[in-house]
Amino acid sequence: MSDKKVRVRFAPSPTGPLHMGGVRTALFNYLFAKKHNGEFILRIEDTDQTRFVPGAEEYIIESLNWCGLTPVEGPGIGGEFGPYRQSERKDLYKKYADQLISSGWAYYAFDTPEEIDALRKEAEANKETFSYGIGTRENLNNSLKLSQEEVQQKLTSGEAYVIRFKMPEDTDVTEEDLIRGSVTFNTTKSLDDKVLFKSDGMPTYHLANVVDDHLMKISHVIRGEEWLPSMPLHVLLYKALGWEATKPRFAHLPLILKPVGKGKLSKRDGDKMGFPVFPLKWTDPQTGDISRGYREDGYFPEAFINLLALLGWNPGTDKEFFSLEELGELFSLERVVKSGSRFDPEKAKWFNKHYFQEKTVDELALLFKPVLKEKGVEAGDEKIAKVVAEIKERCEFVSDLWDQSYYFFEAPESYDEKTVSKRWKEDTPGKLSEISVLFESVSDWKAEAIKEAFSAFMNEKEWGFGVVMNPLRLSLVGGNMGPDLFVICELLGKEETIKRIQLAIEKIG
Ligand code: GLU
Repeated sequence: MSDKKVRVRFAPSPTGPLHMGGVRTALFNYLFAKKHNGEFILRIEDTDQTRFVPGAEEYIIESLNWCGLTPVEGPGIGGEFGPYRQSERKDLYKKYADQLISSGWAYYAFDTPEEIDALRKEAEANKETFSYGIGTRENLNNSLKLSQEEVQQKLTSGEAYVIRFKMPEDTDVTEEDLIRGSVTFNTTKSLDDKVLFKSDGMPTYHLANVVDDHLMKISHVIRGEEWLPSMPLHVLLYKALGWEATKPRFAHLPLILKPVGKGKLSKRDGDKMGFPVFPLKWTDPQTGDISRGYREDGYFPEAFINLLALLGWNPGTDKEFFSLEELGELFSLERVVKSGSRFDPEKAKWFNKHYFQEKTVDELALLFKPVLKEKGVEAGDEKIAKVVAEIKERCEFVSDLWDQSYYFFEAPESYDEKTVSKRWKEDTPGKLSEISVLFESVSDWKAEAIKEAFSAFMNEKEWGFGVVMNPLRLSLVGGNMGPDLFVICELLGKEETIKRIQLAIEKIG
C-alpha cells in the first residue's frame, strides 16, 4: 500500500432506508480504516433532489450508531473537510465542470428531456438502445455540433443545459480493483457520455463523488459491485481533472444474494421468508408501509455485525464469532471474495443465539424488565433474574424470554387440551388436593425441600410419580412445558402454587 494516510468514506444517498448490503459496505470501510489506523468518514450524497426521502439521512446515521460504526468526520460531527452533505457543497462543483469544458473533456448539451425521450423511443422501435455519446453526439443539440456563437447565444439567453463528459473514442481504460484485479473497459463499446452537471445547478453523482473524494483526500473507494461500471468514468475524471497522481484505489464488494434462487437480496425476499433486510424498522413517509428491522426484531448489533462481516469476507480459519474490535484487527480486502454470498436467515438467528447466550443473566434480566413492564407484570429483580437463569438456554432472542416464561408471572387462563385429556384422570383432583395440603406444611419453600417432602409423600402413598407430576405441571403452567417442576414451585411461591392447584381443580374439574 502507498504511504498515503488511509481515509475511506461511506457515501450513501438518502433515498430510503439503508439496505443491509449498505451496512456491510459501511462495515468494510470502517474495518479497513481500523486495520490501517485510518479514518472512516460519512458523506451524504444528496445531489439528486428528485430522489430525496425525508428521514432517510437520520435513519442512516442511527443505523450506523446502532452498529457501532461511528465515523470520525460527517454531518453533525464536523471535520476538516466539511461540509459532508453534498447539497451543502453545491457551489463548489460548477468550477470543475467548467474546467472540464475548457480542457475539452466535457461539453454543453441543450437537448430537452422530451427530445432525448423521442430518440430513446425511436431506437426502441428499431430494437436498439439509444446512448448519448460516441456515434450519436455529433448530430445532437450540443456544443460539439453547434457553432461557438450559437452556444454563446443559448447560454446568454438562459437556455437550459447539462454538461456531459466527452468520452474519448476507442480507449481501453484499465484499473486495478483491489478485489477483482485488473479490470478493463473499452470506451466505445461500453461507455456513454454521462451527465456531470444538471440543469438544476446540481452536479450528478459522478462529478460530485469524484470531486469530493479528491477534496476529502480519500485513499480508498470501497463500495458495492453495482458501482463497478462507473469506475472507468471516475478514473477518466481523475485524469481529466489532473488528479491522477492522488487518485484513490478502488475495491468493489460482491453482492449479497437471495437465500434461494438467483440475484441480489431484496426486501421482497425478506417479506416472503420473514426476515428483515434493513438494520432498523422503517416507515415509508409516503405510503406508511412498514419494513421490519434487525433491531426491532430483537437482534443484537454484535450479531448483526458478525453475520454481515462473513458475507463476502472470511478470516481464512474456521472461526465464526468475531467482535467488531477483532474484525478491525483481522480485516483485509485480500480476503474479500469476488463472487456474491448467499444470505442465510437461519444462520442469522444462530448468530443471535450465540450472542444471547454470551450475555450474563443480569444483562438479560435488564433487557427483560421493559418487556415485563409492557405486559403489566410486576416482579422483583431477584425473581426476574432467577426466571431468566432457568430459561436462558431455550432462547435466541429477548422476545423469547416472555414466550418461555410467562407462566412464572401470570396464572394459566386455559389448559392445553391434549395434556388434559391425556393426564387428567378422575382421581386427579383428589390427589392434587392432598398435594396442596402437603405443600401447606412445607416450611422451607425451596426447590430441594419441596422435592424432598413431595418424594417422601409419594413413596408413602405409593403413587406413581407421573400420575401426579404431570397434572401438577399442567395446573401450574397450563401445559407440559417448562423447567424443573420444583424450581417452578419455588419461583411461584407457596401461596401462588397452592392457588394455581385449586384453580385447576375448579376449572378442569
Ligand atoms: N452515493 C452512492 C451510493 O448511494 C455512493 C457510491 C460510492 O460509494 O461511490 O451508494
